[in-house]
Amino acid sequence: EHSPLTVLGLGAMGTALVRAWLAAGMRPTVWNRTPGKADALASEGAKPVATAAEAVAASGLVVVCLLDDASVGQALDGIDLTGKDLVDLTTRTPAEARARARWAEERGARFLDGGIMAIPPMIGVPESGGYVFYSGSRALFDEHRATLSVPAGAEYTGEDPGSASLHDVALLSAMTGMFAGVAHAFALIRKSDIAPTSLAPLLVDWLNAMAQGVHEQAARLESGDYTRDVVSNLAMMVEGDGTLLRTAEEQGVTPELLTPYMALMERRVADGHGEEDATGVIELLVG
Ligand code: NDP
Repeated sequence: EHSPLTVLGLGAMGTALVRAWLAAGMRPTVWNRTPGKADALASEGAKPVATAAEAVAASGLVVVCLLDDASVGQALDGIDLTGKDLVDLTTRTPAEARARARWAEERGARFLDGGIMAIPPMIGVPESGGYVFYSGSRALFDEHRATLSVPAGAEYTGEDPGSASLHDVALLSAMTGMFAGVAHAFALIRKSDIAPTSLAPLLVDWLNAMAQGVHEQAARLESGDYTRDVVSNLAMMVEGDGTLLRTAEEQGVTPELLTPYMALMERRVADGHGEEDATGVIELLVG
């Protein structure tokens, strides 16, 4: 073991990670299934090797960033992981993370799962606010914390290997809903004289202001009282949904991104919860 760390996977994210460690003066051993991707990094100081087995053998700390959990199984199949510290930044589900942790431990490795809350341009740029959720082996995290903190902030969420992924996917799911709303908003103005670039700053400020309501929803969820300090009640919001839907129709925009959420709000009002805020919708989702 001559290398400070190994990185398996030189896609957009793996390459950004390697560049961050290079910028910090480290020379990672790197491997990618398709060889050409290591060429530029080699000229910058990284050490490419031909096989995943050589890459794993080169370092005690092995960082993996492949497409999905199945690719990790394929890339590491049959490779000796005894005594290795495996840090896997591949996006996966909580159950996949737990299974991968057991798989690594059965092969004599310590395992830390990671969920990256950043896009490649944010890696190695501390001001960007990018960070990684980590869960699994606390000892591994503590030992390698300095190295892991080079490309992005490091947030340890617990020993359960599925915890990082659950945090990651919760944030990604909220983002998905947010962008669905943004898509609908841009569609509404598409055939109007409002320019997308004039709506954009208004949208960003509005979403930021409304996002503060997340704290109140969390407090209501924990208290179980969804009527406490409600300023916008659900019955009023469902009434307002009619205006949103009629405007979509007027503008010739399909309401399909909005209607699933609106249907849940309506059900909650029909169930007699019109005086609450929208927090109760969460109960309908969980079942
Ligand atoms: P890319 O598509 O750019 O790269 C995918 C990488 O996985 C390539 O190195 C590819 O190798 C490799 N790969 C795919 N299948 C296999 C396989 N069966 N065996 C070996 N290697 C395989 O993806 P990214 O780098 O963008 O993403 C990597 C991970 O990072 C994903 O899990 C993603 O969710 C996560 N992530 C990405 C973000 C982003 O914005 N890019 C943000 C946050 C997380 P090859 O070159 O041979 O095809």
